[in-house]
Amino acid sequence: MDHARSLLRWYRKHGRTFPWRSGKLDPYVVLVSEIMLQQTQTSRVSEALPRFLRQFPTVFDLARAGNGEIIRQWQGMGYNSRALRLRDAAKTIVREYDGVIPSSPEILLSLPGVGPYTSAAVACFAFNTRVVVLDVNVRRVYSRLVKRQKYTTDVEPDEVLTRFAESLIPQRTSSQWHHAVMDLGATICTARAPQCTVCPLASLCPSNNVLQSVSRTRKKEPEFRGKPQRIWRGRFIEVLRGQKPHTHLRPAQLFALATQSPLSAHEEEWFTAVLNRLEADGLILRTRWGVRLAD
Ligand code: SF4
Repeated sequence: MDHARSLLRWYRKHGRTFPWRSGKLDPYVVLVSEIMLQQTQTSRVSEALPRFLRQFPTVFDLARAGNGEIIRQWQGMGYNSRALRLRDAAKTIVREYDGVIPSSPEILLSLPGVGPYTSAAVACFAFNTRVVVLDVNVRRVYSRLVKRQKYTTDVEPDEVLTRFAESLIPQRTSSQWHHAVMDLGATICTARAPQCTVCPLASLCPSNNVLQSVSRTRKKEPEFRGKPQRIWRGRFIEVLRGQKPHTHLRPAQLFALATQSPLSAHEEEWFTAVLNRLEADGLILRTRWGVRLAD
């Protein structure tokens, strides 16, 4: 297993350090950090995770948290409904598994807010289970290793990558291996400009020094005033998070504070639809006094 030795040697020297990788391994911390990392950059999660864990040091504390309390602690992370799903997952773990984070990927997958990637990642990083973990960095690295690719954007189907990964992952160091592949993808085997000359896997890589750089066109998200709708959702929550607990804002007041301009008649329909969605997601409450963060 020369490839494993070279990659792990490289990782010990050049791997990234993050709060969720340091100290004593705690499956609860791995679960929280993996949910945070689903849609938030590592730098933001590095800042938010220690604060979140001070507030909710155990799965039992998290399971008891109310909606408003947990949304406040999710500050700066975006995609706030993830926080509620994470709390719901904690409730299930306390109720059905006595507060012990399950190690089986199948059971993890049944928890609220946990999809195929997160269940595999928690099983791998918290329990060192030999399971295939595919994120965007790992997909890219494996695609380039499995066959000679022409363009930097070329990615193989998951079935191909899974079969390939099963033959590569070492028996006893699945967690380290996956951290290493992720770090290689983030720093050396990057999306646009892979640095093959310093890559620890160059000697076995068929795409070594042959990739032509092309940029991927991103799918357009629904927009309002030139910004994606999710940004506005985040801003409305941010304004409510800044109020004292149980303070209501009139909808027009909330809109004006978040957008820095008054609500016009032609924007009302869009704004109402956003509030409906935030309410359905359990993030806000609407009462006769106005809008506030959920309890
Ligand atoms: S040799 Fe180049 S393309 Fe192959 S894994 Fe390393 S950085 Fe990526």
